[in-house]
Amino acid sequence: MSNPASKPDNHGTATRIIHNRRHKDPFGSPYSPVYNTTTYRFKNTEALLDVIEGRTEGNLYTRWGTNPSIQELEQGLAGLERAEAALAFGSGMAAISATLLAHGRTGIVCVGDLYGGTQSFMTDHCQALGIPVTFLYREEQNQLAEQLNQSGKLVYLESPANPNMAILDIGAIAETAHRHGALLAVDNTFASPINQNPLSLGADLVLHSATKYLCGHSDLTAGALMASAEFIQPVANWRKNLGQLLSPETAALLSRSLRTLPVRIRQHNENAMAVAKAMEKHPKITKVHYPGLPSFEGHELAKQQMHGFGGMLSIEVEGGQQAAAQVADKLRVFLLATSLGGVESLVSQPSATSHHGISREERLKRGIGDGMLRLSVGLEDAQDLITDLNQALA
Ligand code: PLP
Repeated sequence: MSNPASKPDNHGTATRIIHNRRHKDPFGSPYSPVYNTTTYRFKNTEALLDVIEGRTEGNLYTRWGTNPSIQELEQGLAGLERAEAALAFGSGMAAISATLLAHGRTGIVCVGDLYGGTQSFMTDHCQALGIPVTFLYREEQNQLAEQLNQSGKLVYLESPANPNMAILDIGAIAETAHRHGALLAVDNTFASPINQNPLSLGADLVLHSATKYLCGHSDLTAGALMASAEFIQPVANWRKNLGQLLSPETAALLSRSLRTLPVRIRQHNENAMAVAKAMEKHPKITKVHYPGLPSFEGHELAKQQMHGFGGMLSIEVEGGQQAAAQVADKLRVFLLATSLGGVESLVSQPSATSHHGISREERLKRGIGDGMLRLSVGLEDAQDLITDLNQALA
């Protein structure tokens, strides 16, 4: 009798992502070559028409997404979120905008805080196209049902959210959405597919800025959508006609990154927990926002719906905005830079970067204190990161 653990579908995420390949290499290479091609030749017109008219599967033109390097990446991406299908994009914003255009045209209802680019796309572009968009603060989520007064809407959220790490109950929101004929899309960038799988909690569509943890080395820009084949198909058409594909080389580089994702995320989780615990005890830190700390408001919910608490956290420095800026400027191991999810630790001050354009009152309402610093905890030695923070705070 064959051992069930030897069947690929029963393998764990780390095994599946390492052994994900479509290609049987004639030279015995364990990994596929990069298919740097935009086009594909056919033996005759009949064979070409068979592909164009959908009678046989085949590659026609890379912008359509039919490129072996991109398809292999998509197979890996789908496996990470245990989804039926996935689409790869040239950026996280490409994945988000195509998904909103394909599934959000009846109306979009957002719950909680969103990445600034997503918020800007919804307010500047969706509304200009006549798509009604509603933003509910986290505290207003009990108004969700009321906002879903017409079926066919799209509910959209991020959890943990930027930069206060607020946690939303994905299962409960999915249930409300479905009861009112809506779909739920979750941007899972901050958690990564190793720490949280929104589809298994009831969400319909999962989005990632693959530029962050999926890449993990701050050296490429990409995006991903994971969902059922039924929900993927309309988005694929938008991607094709908006021309939002990534190059085969970038796809192959991202496939390489995915093979180390589980082990990287384990270390991000461990380092962030060590930094969060050290900062919680520091006399100059008034608050630490990290889902893994029992003192964090969303800790119990995070424990239920996440497998790990992630590499992102925020600290609030005593003395407000100027004191926080001084700390950021004095850090030596943490780099003062935007973005997140790479091997190197980064620091940014939300009031000077992502939330620079909004009023202080609005920032405070969103739980973003004056002295907040957001940390993307990398893969350096945790003690070096703590020592760096201690010297900057001193
Ligand atoms: N979603 C989140 C949570 C992000 O932080 C970002 C970028 O910072 C994006 C989406 C957009 O991703 P990209 O920069 O790859 O377009």
